[in-house]
Amino acid sequence: MVIRKDYADQPETVAQLDDAEIVTLARSIIEAQDALEGSTTELILQPLLEGRFAKIISELRAQSKPDTDRFHAKRAGSSACRMPWTDPMVRPDGSVIPCCGAGTETIGSLKFASMAEVIDGPRARAVRQSILDGKPLVNCSTCCLAQDITFAEFRTDFEKWLGGT
Ligand code: SF4
Repeated sequence: MVIRKDYADQPETVAQLDDAEIVTLARSIIEAQDALEGSTTELILQPLLEGRFAKIISELRAQSKPDTDRFHAKRAGSSACRMPWTDPMVRPDGSVIPCCGAGTETIGSLKFASMAEVIDGPRARAVRQSILDGKPLVNCSTCCLAQDITFAEFRTDFEKWLGGT
């Protein structure tokens, strides 16, 4: 496990967990869910984390062997991640990146255009289209947020984000 310098007891990313650690984390989530059962507090996993843990948690609850391969599987070719639609980021120099896993891929700069123009601009559209085409221009193949989900699940995730149920 890789330990972050600033949080010595935390791994840098869940992508660096080994199988035993994945199961330990999933069991901890189950314990927390059970402890909150019947209370007014609900444990809600961040959607991308839920995408990677939901099946493992249900398998553990069913007392079957969890398929940890699924956790590690990253369909980079069809990485249904909505970050380039929902979570563009601005760097201190004003440049805008389409998502946290974008590396050096910028989609424009607030020095020269408004945020609305940047996120609707040709480079932002190209990144989003590349996700839909299964040939991401960003670093999905090494990103811990890459999702092993289908495009039907992707659509459901989007509908939830847009306020649907
Ligand atoms: S690099 Fe790919 S998986 Fe990572 S946040 Fe960006 S779009 Fe999502």
